[in-house]
Amino acid sequence: MVKFEYIWLDGYQPTQSLRSKTKIEKEFSGKLEDLPMWSFDGSSTKQAPGGSSDCLLKPVFFVKDPQRKNAYLVMCEVLEANGKPHATNGRATIEDDDNDFWFGFEQEYFLWNPSNNKPLGFPDNGYPNPQGQYYCSVGTNNAFGRDIVEEHLDVCIEAGLNVEGINAEVAAGQWEFQIFAKGAKEAGDQIWIARYLLERIGEKYGVSINWHCKPLGTLDWNGSGMHANFSNTLLRTAGDKAVYDKVCEAFRPVVSEHIDVYGADNHLRLTGLHETASIHDFSYGVSDRGASIRIPVATVERGWKGYLEDRRPNSAADPYKVAARIIKTVKTAL
Ligand code: ADP
Ligand code: MN
Ligand code: MN
Ligand code: MN
Repeated sequence: MVKFEYIWLDGYQPTQSLRSKTKIEKEFSGKLEDLPMWSFDGSSTKQAPGGSSDCLLKPVFFVKDPQRKNAYLVMCEVLEANGKPHATNGRATIEDDDNDFWFGFEQEYFLWNPSNNKPLGFPDNGYPNPQGQYYCSVGTNNAFGRDIVEEHLDVCIEAGLNVEGINAEVAAGQWEFQIFAKGAKEAGDQIWIARYLLERIGEKYGVSINWHCKPLGTLDWNGSGMHANFSNTLLRTAGDKAVYDKVCEAFRPVVSEHIDVYGADNHLRLTGLHETASIHDFSYGVSDRGASIRIPVATVERGWKGYLEDRRPNSAADPYKVAARIIKTVKTAL
């Protein structure tokens, strides 16, 4: 018997959560098209009224499930009973996806202690030392929750996700992983599966994953982002600063369209402090971690051939919607 964990995004707003349930089949050909459609009770996920509650699950991506024997994780799109993409289906908003657009997402998050409702490393009362000592740190007083982070890295690799690295972040209990993929859908699928795996490891340790972009509010602690690094053939081969200026300028008139899909509560995070640009401004610059879009210095050193980093998407953003919007804007610059 083979276990398939069908995974989808619920209808909660402004931030959707992962849901999943297990389907048992006798065998599996190994081909996506042989995975059957399935359904769920949309009235329990804010995706349908009770009177006509069935929503459909359409398998779109799968990996081996590294945490179970004989099992797969199956990312699904949610469709209405009539087969049309559901309004909550961000993946379906990706128009003309092709492998020319490459994405590298830097997913930040906090490991969170559910008993005192604070990040790992925070005492029950008061605060740990101010930030400074935690970024890329080692040692019991600096890095909190490494077992979880290491286990997550291992299962991502075992699942075949294209995880590129991990690091401890600036706040205590805050971490990051990076995933690179060609194509917007593929990149989104990989991030969502990686998030799913992290949630499930968290269960084992009794630690929750806090995806909020500013879980420590206005205090002097960093928020969490999901920097979106992106390129297409144009950016990878430009050899010309003017091309980069033109692409960056295409983002200026559509700031609010981008912010709309860059994650809830981003005004709390994009303050102009803590390595962010103000949510009200638009700026770009070489090596500038206080800009909306950073041009990595390596891109300039390679003679203006490389990629751009949109630093505005936050940790709770839907990578499908982020990638879809970036593609749309870059295409207006061509
Ligand atoms: P930093 O923390 O300095 O912003 P990271 O090393 O954490 O940078 O992340 C850089 C990201 O850029 C990685 O996810 C990587 O996959 C991505 N990246 C590198 N080259 C490209 C490219 N040509 N197109 C898209 N993304 C890229
Ligand atoms: Mn990073
Ligand atoms: Mn980071
Ligand atoms: Mn970054």
